Amino acid sequence: ERQRSFVTTSCKAFDEMLGGSGVPAGRVTEICGAPGMGKTQIGMQLCVNAQILSSQGGEHGEAIYIDTEGSFIVERVVEIAEATLEALNAGKDSQDSQTIEQFLSRIHVFRIHSYVEQVALINQLDDFLTEHPKVKVLIIDSIAFHFRQNFADMGLRTRLLNGMAQHLRRFAEEFDLAVVMMNQMTTRVTRGQGSDNDSSVLVPALGDSWGHACTNRIILSWQYEVRYAALVKSPNLQECTIPYAITSKGVRD
Ligand code: ATP
Ligand code: MG
Repeated sequence: ERQRSFVTTSCKAFDEMLGGSGVPAGRVTEICGAPGMGKTQIGMQLCVNAQILSSQGGEHGEAIYIDTEGSFIVERVVEIAEATLEALNAGKDSQDSQTIEQFLSRIHVFRIHSYVEQVALINQLDDFLTEHPKVKVLIIDSIAFHFRQNFADMGLRTRLLNGMAQHLRRFAEEFDLAVVMMNQMTTRVTRGQGSDNDSSVLVPALGDSWGHACTNRIILSWQYEVRYAALVKSPNLQECTIPYAITSKGVRD
C-alpha cells in the first residue's frame, strides 16, 4: 500500500486523535455536532490546509466544498487563509508563498438547495474529480440537512442515503482524497416507566445505520467554555476526547 496522505486540521491534538497528521485520504470522516460547535469552521480550515505546499509539508491540492446550508463564508475563508499563510511563512523568506486569490480559486464550492440536487451532484462528481485530480479534500456541510424534515418516503430516504455513502467511500478510495461529512445532532428520547422518567440524549442525525457510512466518526461538544472533539468510532484508532479551539485565525489547539 502506498503512503497515505493527510490534511491537517491546524490543531495538533485533533490531528493526533486521527492518527497523526489530520484527516486521512482514502477514508470517510464524519464530524457531528450541534449548531455552533465548529463543523463549518473545521470544513473551511481543511479547504485551506489541503492547499499547503509540499515544501511546507502539505499536499498542494485543491478542495471541494458541498454547501447544503449556505454556510460557506468567503470572507471567513480569506481570514483563515491569511492566518495560515502567515503561520507557514513566519521566520522564513517567503519565496514559496501563495496568494489569497490562488487559495480561493482552488476551493470548488457547490451550493445545494434540495436533496434532489445533492443526490444528482454526488452522482455526477466522478467526471469533476477526473478533471480535477488535485482535489485532496471533499467536504459536505452538512450531509443531513435536506434529508431530515418532511421526508415522507423513508424507504426512498434510506436508499438515497446508502447510495450516497457508497459513492463517497469510492471517491475517497479511487481518487485518494479525504471525504469529510458534517452531520447534525438529533434528540433521542428513551422511554422510562412513566413519562417523568423519559430521558433524552443527543445522537448523530440519520439514525443508527448511517453510522456505517463513515470510517471514523467524531462528535463535537462544548463544556465550561471549552470545545471538545471525541473520536467515537474507528476501525484502527484509539477512541479518545481532545480539547480544541476556534480563534479568529481558525482551528487551533
Ligand atoms: P451549524 O450546525 O449551525 O452549522 P457549526 O457546527 O457549523 O454550526 P460553526 O459555524 O462552524 O458551527 O461555528 C461557529 C462558531 O465558531 C461561533 O460560535 C464562534 O464561536 C466560532 N467562530 C466563528 N468565526 C469566528 C471568528 N472569526 N473568531 C472566533 N471564533 C469564531
Ligand atoms: Mg455549519
